[in-house]
Amino acid sequence: MDYIGKYPNDSGKFGEFGGMFAPEILMPALNELSKAYNKYILDETFQKEFTQILRNYSGRPTPLYYAARLSNDLGCKVYLKREDLNHGGAHKINNVIGQALLAKKMGKTKLVAETGAGQHGFATAIAGAYFGMKTKVFMGEIDIKRQAYNVYRMQLLGAEVIPVKLGSKTLKDAVNEGLRYWISHLNDTHYLMGSVVGPHPYPLLVREFQRVIGKELKQQILELEGKLPNAIIACIGGGSNAIGAFYDFINDDGVQLIGVEAAGEGKDTNKHSIALGLGRRGVLHGSLMYLLQNEYGNILETHSVSAGLDYPGVGPEHCFLKEIDRLRVGEATDTETLEAFKRLSLLEGIIPALESSHALAYLEKIKDEFSKDDIVVVNLSGSGSKDLDIIKNHVEFKIK
Ligand SMILES: *Cc1c(COP(=O)(O)O)cnc(C)c1O
Repeated sequence: MDYIGKYPNDSGKFGEFGGMFAPEILMPALNELSKAYNKYILDETFQKEFTQILRNYSGRPTPLYYAARLSNDLGCKVYLKREDLNHGGAHKINNVIGQALLAKKMGKTKLVAETGAGQHGFATAIAGAYFGMKTKVFMGEIDIKRQAYNVYRMQLLGAEVIPVKLGSKTLKDAVNEGLRYWISHLNDTHYLMGSVVGPHPYPLLVREFQRVIGKELKQQILELEGKLPNAIIACIGGGSNAIGAFYDFINDDGVQLIGVEAAGEGKDTNKHSIALGLGRRGVLHGSLMYLLQNEYGNILETHSVSAGLDYPGVGPEHCFLKEIDRLRVGEATDTETLEAFKRLSLLEGIIPALESSHALAYLEKIKDEFSKDDIVVVNLSGSGSKDLDIIKNHVEFKIK
């Protein structure tokens, strides 16, 4: 397939998905961001600086680890791309360092971001401290209560956490409030989007900063195995860790790309976040994508045991890749996910994030499709340290 470098087009479209469905007043800021992106992304000095920071500060390249005991258990060769070993415990650092560096070049001195579970807020707070930029994080009131640990971590890093009392008091309202704040502070503030969502150029920007995952992975697997993997599996919330791992393999038709959504309490309950699998086309946060919505187009409440996958939409590029049959979409329930979480912890001594455990759980479900010499890479997007409060409340994890 001849795909890489062709999307999005100049107006930010991936086929019919994506675009810039933003208020007129935001357009100059989005255009300014596109201009800066075009100026810097291919600039050697910028790329060098970005790479250096990720290397010295975050610990890249992250290992591609052959999980021998898990492989033995599943009947194929399983490699884990260890994004959990990044500073901050997840892939999110790649994006925040990239965007904050770009913002700095643009002369911005402040960052504003939204957060749901608090993971992106935490990552943004890290970047804010690193670059000496004042950081505000908008967070739903309900999420603030649920995620006290992350709120505290952000505050330790000097970020201001602003409670959002509107709407569902969770992520989607935090995005709305964050964007509203940005509109009145455009001259000195960069809005640091947390995933490959939002109006153009965000899905492009975030993908390019997360591509480092797939670039490293390609080089590492060729060194280790002398060939490309049969499949790469990643969980999908907004889609940033997945597109980061997938992108440099899209032209390689022999590599299956598999995105896994959160089926929560089950596909046929209304407690899940299966936006790609069950959503309909709609516009949210400036972009056309598959969305979980009711018959009147109101956004549905979503559910997942992992707060990081709890988003009613999914990035426009994933929607397009699904449409052109280049992305396979799977799902894992909360129960399947907890099982996978437990298995990796016991077999490999690695406690995975609940988000990443969805990808592991789906591999378990389809393992019979692979033979013992087949290579499957799971993108281990983050560490489970942040999830222990949730985990320990599940009966199967009570330790006697
Ligand atoms: C935030 C998060 C996700 C989901 O976000 P994507 O943009 O879909 O990658 C997945 N895994 C971890 C560990 C996260 O923190």
